Amino acid sequence: MTDKHKLDTRCVHSGELKDPQGSPHTPTYNSTTFAFDSTAALLDVVEGRSEGNLYTRYGMNPTIRSLEAKLASLEGAESAMAFSSGMAAEAALFLSHGRDGIICIGDAYGGTLELLSEQLPLLGINTHFLLGSELTQLDSLLSQGKRLVFFETPSNPTLEVFDIAAIAEQAHRHDAILAIDNTFATPINQHPLSLGADIAVHSATKYLGGHSDITAGALMGNKKLLNPISGWRKNLGQVPAPETATLLARSIRTLAVRVRQQNESALAIAKAMQSHPQVNRVLYPGLESFTGHAIAAKQMSGFGGMLTIETVGDGTTATEVVDRLKLITIAASLGGVESLATQPITTTHHSLSAQERSRRGITDGMIRLSIGLEDTQDLIDDLTQALQ
Ligand code: PLP
Repeated sequence: MTDKHKLDTRCVHSGELKDPQGSPHTPTYNSTTFAFDSTAALLDVVEGRSEGNLYTRYGMNPTIRSLEAKLASLEGAESAMAFSSGMAAEAALFLSHGRDGIICIGDAYGGTLELLSEQLPLLGINTHFLLGSELTQLDSLLSQGKRLVFFETPSNPTLEVFDIAAIAEQAHRHDAILAIDNTFATPINQHPLSLGADIAVHSATKYLGGHSDITAGALMGNKKLLNPISGWRKNLGQVPAPETATLLARSIRTLAVRVRQQNESALAIAKAMQSHPQVNRVLYPGLESFTGHAIAAKQMSGFGGMLTIETVGDGTTATEVVDRLKLITIAASLGGVESLATQPITTTHHSLSAQERSRRGITDGMIRLSIGLEDTQDLIDDLTQALQ
């Protein structure tokens, strides 16, 4: 198994440990600690001369390391770190690389916005929020010495698309680091590192986990950038449990087939919704009419399983539509095998003021859909009956 193998092959085989008992996959080592033959051997690991296992909270556990090798391979990265959640991964990233100031571009998950605007400022870590329409200010902000640029593309929930290569070039001109939340796109559809970004961020709770039964996160990048993050992860206790690492590695083995099917289904549903009289707008990067389509087509190999529709009428009308869905489940998350619907104003962006939501173009009538693996026509029929 080498990095020359195609992505589908790497999803299945990368990182797997050769098990002496013959299991084709890495066993789950639940041990919290690991035994040594001698104090000298223990010191070799403690002092970094050998790569042995030591203590699970440090991430020095074979099941977690095996998962990390798979995660690195997915993003074509030198290295990866697994976390207990996407927010844990983001928090460790911001604490280690964001202390000179963060620039957050465009929309982002509500929890990310809350961390950046409410908790981190208490520690003196400040973020400048730049809307997509304000990108011309990026150069001047970077020249003020901000070191970390962060954004989602496509973003949550408006699916706004940003040009990773162009922004990476700008960030690097000012010696800043560019981190991309690649959760919505997945490594099947988009490779931020090959486009010039320095770190890929994932809520592995979503597509990587894929079954709505794992909470985990990941950072991928080169060792020079990830090494300083490991101390934060270790001492904030952000490492995933070995059982979670096993479940996540199992899920990643089917990532490529799941995501391609979700891409196909989401595009068909976006097209069907576009011509529905009760739908004002469909936000989906795969639609030629979508503002970010040209950039998406340049940097993505598939357009993902997330789309947002805006219903005719107000927020109450949208709530009625959501409540009438029979097959699609009302829930806040995304990326699983089952399709989910949520109004951003009731969940992911509930904590933002109405004024801030409006500034970000998040309307009351928006319904965000995470397309799962059900039959596409069944999903279109469910949406159509709910919209009647
Ligand atoms: N990034 C994105 C794009 C998300 O949608 C979420 C959660 O919804 C997160 C990060 C945070 O991930 P987690 O819930 O695993 O902490």
